[in-house]
Amino acid sequence: MTNHPSPFDSNGRRYGPSTQAVHAGEDRVKFGFSMTDPIFCAATYTFANTQALIDYVQQKQPREEYGRYGNPSEKVVERKLAALEGGTAALLYSTGMAAVAGFLLAKLQAGDEIVLFDECYHRTRELCTKHLAKFGVITHQVPACDYERMEAAINPRTRLLISESPTNPHLSVVDLERFAALGKKYGVETLIDATLATPYNVRPLEYGVDYVLHSCTKYLGGHNDLLAGAIVSTEEKLEPVRKLRGVLGIINAPHNMYLLLRGLKTFELRMQRHNENGQAVAEFLSRHPRIEKVYYPGLPSHPHYEVARRTMRGFGGLVTFQVKDADWRATAAVVDALRIPRIGPSLGGVESLVEQPIFMSYHDFTPEQRQAVGIYDNMIRLSCGIENPEDLTADLAQALDHSAAGQ
Ligand SMILES: *Cc1c(COP(=O)(O)O)cnc(C)c1O
Repeated sequence: MTNHPSPFDSNGRRYGPSTQAVHAGEDRVKFGFSMTDPIFCAATYTFANTQALIDYVQQKQPREEYGRYGNPSEKVVERKLAALEGGTAALLYSTGMAAVAGFLLAKLQAGDEIVLFDECYHRTRELCTKHLAKFGVITHQVPACDYERMEAAINPRTRLLISESPTNPHLSVVDLERFAALGKKYGVETLIDATLATPYNVRPLEYGVDYVLHSCTKYLGGHNDLLAGAIVSTEEKLEPVRKLRGVLGIINAPHNMYLLLRGLKTFELRMQRHNENGQAVAEFLSRHPRIEKVYYPGLPSHPHYEVARRTMRGFGGLVTFQVKDADWRATAAVVDALRIPRIGPSLGGVESLVEQPIFMSYHDFTPEQRQAVGIYDNMIRLSCGIENPEDLTADLAQALDHSAAGQ
């Protein structure tokens, strides 16, 4: 079945993100003439006769064989993600971290080295420095967006340059052109974890980055109701990664893939509101007398504002800020006074979520370690959902006033 539409219209123009989010990767006529894609709860797939099996083995037949190697629902989601990201192939995993692990294990061997910007997702850094180290892979961490330090860390054993962009919770934005050029100069492959950006806001492959990784748990799924991860690139580059996924079995489940497919239908609409809300909240906070500092790449005060404006369509729903003259308790009072966002980890869902990084991702750091990585007692991370912007800013206003009165 290859009747899924091309990403281009009859004039060769690429369809927009919403048209792709709704239609890309899906067969035009589906099983049972259903409008929606069916969920295939199949552990195994059968062959009509021995010749059909021989045809499949000799790769004459694009079809499924066994659940660990692929599922029709998975292929629909993979084609859609590849189309949205401007790649030619994608691989879906059970979680974002499964995608990171599956990718790194496929690409690296003992003696290889990788260079990371130090604001990468903390579990990715932990996987590299604590676990891959046991298998002889060496990780160098350099300060985020310090391209000279990254270049200086490259040597003939370097196999991968890795960064997140924008980073979490500091919202640093990588100059993708520079990052990709570094890889090309030394013949080293590059990977961007673009979970916070999504293909709506930036498409790293267009800048020459080799691989884009997503935790689909966040904006792509978008409803705080599933975990998934994906890597997008070309079929050729992903071939060994696909093979290892089939060995490791770190695949998603059929019902989950359907939820992701369903979530993706409204991808552009949700991203537009996340961007609008992030910008409105960041601007509101940057004018508020109780706020010391706001981290948001859509503000001119952000150190990477120019890079962000040049490369990003919008700046997402995540806003980090510091409350003026507040210790952790006074900061917690602001968090606790909010009525719309709930306290919790994660980001990118339709519901707003709020947290103090010192208690969420960094609770096992010493105060000195937190200081060193720029995590402060008066810091709040807010993931704006798709609620109405005036309600989110009014809620922040009342929380900042109310908690100040109680001090
Ligand atoms: C959440 C997240 C991950 C991990 O994804 P899971 O789906 O939770 O495994 C990786 N990178 C970034 C930037 C994330 O925000």
